[in-house]
Amino acid sequence: MTEPRVKVATCSLAGCFGCHMSFLDMDEAIVPLIQRIEFDRSPLTDIKQIGRCDIGLVEGGLCNTENREVLHQFRAHCNILVAVGACAINGGVPAMRNHYPLAECLAESYLNGVNVVNPQIPRDAELPPLLEQVIPIGQEVRVDYFLPGCPPPAAAFMEIVSAVLEQREPQLEYQQRRFD
Ligand code: SF4
Repeated sequence: MTEPRVKVATCSLAGCFGCHMSFLDMDEAIVPLIQRIEFDRSPLTDIKQIGRCDIGLVEGGLCNTENREVLHQFRAHCNILVAVGACAINGGVPAMRNHYPLAECLAESYLNGVNVVNPQIPRDAELPPLLEQVIPIGQEVRVDYFLPGCPPPAAAFMEIVSAVLEQREPQLEYQQRRFD
């Protein structure tokens, strides 16, 4: 009898995809794992709508309204939600803008010192509005587990997915709990 597969969704909100790269860094260890998991919505599958999932791995904090919408979809569809990496846990590098008003950040990025004929702040209706501050995901929804690190090591991803497969609490080794 084939074992039931665990459904995994992943997303990158205000992140750099470094956490996703670290997940893939488990190299050949991913081969036996892939027999037992199935990816749902993820940049790895390019599936746009999330279905019912066992575990959601969320990289990055919230910097715009679309991030917020995606996060709530993940919380609603995933039994277990994991904040992956420093950006999801505390905002990380994108949250450095929280020291300044949003208008000042936009002016500095798009108006001041920009060497183009008609400098302007992008206002396309397709672009999701920025939030005034970058927000860690735990401030917006309930989070079940936090994987620290920038990025967390591949072994930490392996442990969290294995724990879900084996229906036990994850045990992160000291070396897997990184804060750099
Ligand atoms: S925690 Fe580090 S690796 Fe992960 S998204 Fe943030 S900056 Fe990138």
